[in-house]
Amino acid sequence: MGKDTGFLEVNRQGPAMRQPEERIKDFKEHYLPLGEKATEQASRCMDCGVPFCNSGCPLGNRIPEFNDAVYRGDYREAYSVLRTTNNFPEFTGRICPAPCEAACVLGINNNPVTIEFIEKEISEKAWEEGWVVPKLPVVRTGKSVAVVGAGPAGLAAADQLNQKGHRVKVFERDARVGGLLTYGIPDYKLEKHVVARRAAIMEEEGVVFQCNTEIGTDITLEELRESFDAVLITIGSKQPRDIRAKGREAKGVHFAMDFLHLNNQKVAGDAPVGQDITAKDKTVLVIGGGDTGSDCIGTSIRQGAKEVIQVTIEEQPPLERAENNPWPEWPRIMRTSSSHEEGCERIWGLNATSFNSDEQGNLVSVSFDEVRGEELAGRWQFVPTGTQRTIECDMAVLAIGFVHPEHEGLVSGAGLSTDPRGNIAAEGFKTSMEGVFTAGDARRGQSLVVWAIAEGRQAADAIDVSLAES
Ligand SMILES: Cc1cc2nc3c(=O)[nH]c(=O)nc-3n(C[C@H](O)[C@H](O)[C@H](O)COP(=O)(O)OP(=O)(O)OC[C@H]3O[C@@H](n4cnc5c(N)ncnc54)[C@H](O)[C@@H]3O)c2cc1C
Ligand code: SF4
Repeated sequence: MGKDTGFLEVNRQGPAMRQPEERIKDFKEHYLPLGEKATEQASRCMDCGVPFCNSGCPLGNRIPEFNDAVYRGDYREAYSVLRTTNNFPEFTGRICPAPCEAACVLGINNNPVTIEFIEKEISEKAWEEGWVVPKLPVVRTGKSVAVVGAGPAGLAAADQLNQKGHRVKVFERDARVGGLLTYGIPDYKLEKHVVARRAAIMEEEGVVFQCNTEIGTDITLEELRESFDAVLITIGSKQPRDIRAKGREAKGVHFAMDFLHLNNQKVAGDAPVGQDITAKDKTVLVIGGGDTGSDCIGTSIRQGAKEVIQVTIEEQPPLERAENNPWPEWPRIMRTSSSHEEGCERIWGLNATSFNSDEQGNLVSVSFDEVRGEELAGRWQFVPTGTQRTIECDMAVLAIGFVHPEHEGLVSGAGLSTDPRGNIAAEGFKTSMEGVFTAGDARRGQSLVVWAIAEGRQAADAIDVSLAES
């Protein structure tokens, strides 16, 4: 522990952000580096006897150890501590919701240590200083693994398996690797060169990427099983949850991922010709109160929307933890994202009942029932209050989550078993098919990048054991 009184002397401070009126003019990252402040922020870590942050992090990051190294100015050591548990701290340091901070002991009666931004600072220093260099495996085992899907779960597994000496080839349907890191999360949270530079290092280390290839369509799972000693399926969970309401087919109602995917392609300069969904000059209604909804708000504002309104079925959460939501649980409190700060009206407690269109079929408004949450017959339900409300808009974006991985193509074509929620069924990480494994959102349902990395690492261990036994 660097400084035993740091937490008494220094208040929590995050990095500065670009001002809203500046940052909405482009898709560049909105946070500025933490810089010099990292040293004193790291000094707030108390090195408490039981570091709850460590178990709050799905990767088990050794947080007190890297905080201590940062306080001492030894970023090289901090990076090597971080890399022992996290393949991609440059991703999580930017976009992790930081469950570690929710569990930080300082958070009991003070603001938690700013762990996520310290993580970003460490990883950026490592890239700047040239410490991130290809590390070739010492021996090759002669075994081979195919990874299907190049999101964070597939990338983490590929990295681990390659370092264990297996030959790894990653098949990706999209034109670029990264999964939702590349095509879901907007650039203002994570610029895509950050993903590309990591993929380039992995390629130099021997991982082979084959993009524009859909398994289940271009190559069958059976063909992969014949050509590789093991197959890992990390195809994410992209089947969107829909709203079955009157008029749903109106022109101007879009799924969030169609909108975000296309926007990220536009920013990268490779959007398909003739296809567009744009918020420019429109009143945009974002339905759904989560992070995906926030990403749709920030993207709409940057595209030049006239007005953005966000509605959600949930009740407005409290500003502080409720008594039944104590530390170290994840705090169920009102959150204001950077996108909200950029200008957005927020309305709670509304359930969409119809999408209304003009004679040409263009969306003109959405009608809602006002609802409140109640426990009925042991289940939490949203009950109409009897009041209706109609909101005028030109475009509606549905950001109400994802139900399970896409079944069409790979999953149903190959006959992979699914669990009752529609995710790929697995015992541990083994699917119903010999030699075929699964991890990430495809196995656990739509989750977080940090969980995808953790699952990729664990699945790699399971595959390594099974290859050693075969
Ligand atoms: C809009 C949005 C914003 C988010 N923001 C955050 C955030 O800020 N922080 C956070 O922690 N989490 C966030 N998440 C969640 C996070 O991105 C996911 O939990 C994570 O990316 C899951 O990783 P994965 O590797 O399992 O799947 P994915 O990232 O979905 O990657 C799956 C990959 O498989 C490919 N694929 C699918 N089918 C095939 C096939 N048949 N053949 C070949 N390839 C295939 C896909 O093209 C994709 O590249 C967000 C999610 C969304 C939708
Ligand atoms: S990966 Fe996420 S949970 Fe883990 S230490 Fe980093 S910010 Fe915290």
